[in-house]
Amino acid sequence: MTFSIHGLAVARGIAIGRAVLVASSRIDVAHYFIEASQVEAEIDRLRLGRNAVVDEIHRLQASIGNMGPKETPHELKALLDVHLMLLQDDELIGGVKHWITQRLYNAEWALTTQLEVIARQFDEMEDEYLRERKADLEQLAEKVLRALKGVASPVLPPARALRKKSQQDLLLDDTVDVPLILIAHDLSPADMLQFKHSVFAGFITDVGGKTSHTAIVARSLNIPAVVGARLASQLVRQDDWVIIDGDAGVVVVDPSPIILAEYGFKQRQGELERGRLGRLRHTPAVTLDGQKIELLANIEMPEDAPGALQAGAVGVGLFRSEFLFMGRQGRLPNEEEQYQAYRRALEGMHGLPVTIRTVDIGADKPLDKALRDDAHLNPALGLRAIRWSLADPAMFLTQLRAILRAAVHGQANLLIPMLAHASEIRQTLALIEQARAELDHRGVAHGPVKIGAMIEIPAAALTLQVFLRYFDFLSIGTNDLIQYTLAIDRADESVAHLYDPLHPAVLRLVALTIAAGSAQGKPVSLCGEMAGDISLTRLLLGLGLRSFSMHPAQILAVKQEVLRADAGKLVAWAEQVVADDEPGLRMSKP
Ligand code: PEP
Ligand code: MG
Repeated sequence: MTFSIHGLAVARGIAIGRAVLVASSRIDVAHYFIEASQVEAEIDRLRLGRNAVVDEIHRLQASIGNMGPKETPHELKALLDVHLMLLQDDELIGGVKHWITQRLYNAEWALTTQLEVIARQFDEMEDEYLRERKADLEQLAEKVLRALKGVASPVLPPARALRKKSQQDLLLDDTVDVPLILIAHDLSPADMLQFKHSVFAGFITDVGGKTSHTAIVARSLNIPAVVGARLASQLVRQDDWVIIDGDAGVVVVDPSPIILAEYGFKQRQGELERGRLGRLRHTPAVTLDGQKIELLANIEMPEDAPGALQAGAVGVGLFRSEFLFMGRQGRLPNEEEQYQAYRRALEGMHGLPVTIRTVDIGADKPLDKALRDDAHLNPALGLRAIRWSLADPAMFLTQLRAILRAAVHGQANLLIPMLAHASEIRQTLALIEQARAELDHRGVAHGPVKIGAMIEIPAAALTLQVFLRYFDFLSIGTNDLIQYTLAIDRADESVAHLYDPLHPAVLRLVALTIAAGSAQGKPVSLCGEMAGDISLTRLLLGLGLRSFSMHPAQILAVKQEVLRADAGKLVAWAEQVVADDEPGLRMSKP
């Protein structure tokens, strides 16, 4: 039966495919695709893992066989028999093999997927005794997952390319080439990154706000995504057909052929529109009245640089360096690793500027899922970004040295996140000097960098004279500026309706920053999600913004807006919008 789920639209476009639910196992399960040639080996791994658990049960049975009836309750023996039976069960093993052969899932992923399918069947059982066997099955699966950790796994294979298929093919086909839609309760930004080169055609999560970092990475994947879809991971079943409407933030489950045809049409329209925009790639971003506008890319990894160039970016306005630090079980990248990464980004941009932001770990960007900060009540207000860096000067100096060394290979800018206090600014600048001195002392080459501050705390936007005294440029981080101005957790879907870029307080802080920078001749960029929102391009141009940094996927659409705008004529209207009590209402009539 067709039904729809509403969430928050984070990445545009339509995706149609089969649901892949990432099970929330207590064990951290790796999800990757194997090659078709590895199927037999993967099934062998599964067999070895299962046999290890069978052997363990046999050993347990043998040891209790030597005990007297008093010490070993009859129930325990019976339970072990049931466990053995479950482990040999055709539905479990046959199902797991199905996911390995048909979908090329690795053994762990296949096992958790099948576990979920069976668990649902158990949930629907009338018989309480049988329903309770679900817990046994989960326990056994965890044992097998643990055993699999000890069985060598094939190296992560390169991503399979998704083949485009017609709607008819999609309905008939059940082979490995069916587009897959990933559905999870929650995904950390690091998980998202892991899926960056995967075959998923779209993402859905139960939780998350529009500018949560998970949503930001989802957007950078340039595939349709919906977050904050509340119960999606419970309502959708493994392998259901699902449509993601990333423009409307809607998920359609089990669509009828008519609905499928309608969305198929929309999908093709979107592709045509993207094709049309592609023609603007080499067109300079200049307004009708001749204002040159800088359109830069936000990237997470050095490997994103070619995509940024391809999208027509004239540089990187925000390299979120923290993604180099995540998902490494807390082991931080050393100076050499970081230097190589920054160098790759600079070289990848072929001489165009790259703004490297120092690490912004904390809040919804934990170093590692396992190290998630649940201990502090308000992690977004806690030890995050520059505060984290200043709390660990050795770590920070390592990063600064790596950036300064990489600056030899291109035009590097250094950007500091989350500053609010003059004392933090002074401490940071002193550490940058120290990093330089350390390199000089070691006789290691380093290059010049322009140093900028992110304006993402209202306190910073209200004390701009201090920032302008110390820094070469400013970059407005509206994702956090909105969060901290309106006291709305950007990652919390339950208050997402109040997260408003057009709140007059937010607009006034943005306007203040742009005006203060231009009054002193210091460049001001905007690198929050507002920069890539085409409904805001004219307003920001009218406020005097000349540098926008966004996901590469948004650049051409924003360029189209720039080409159609007369920046001079937008000034008076933009001033009125900012002065308005409800700017959102005035926005429709520029
Ligand atoms: C911002 O806050 O707007 C920003 C660009 O930084 P991040 O989204 O990484 O916090
Ligand atoms: Mg920020």
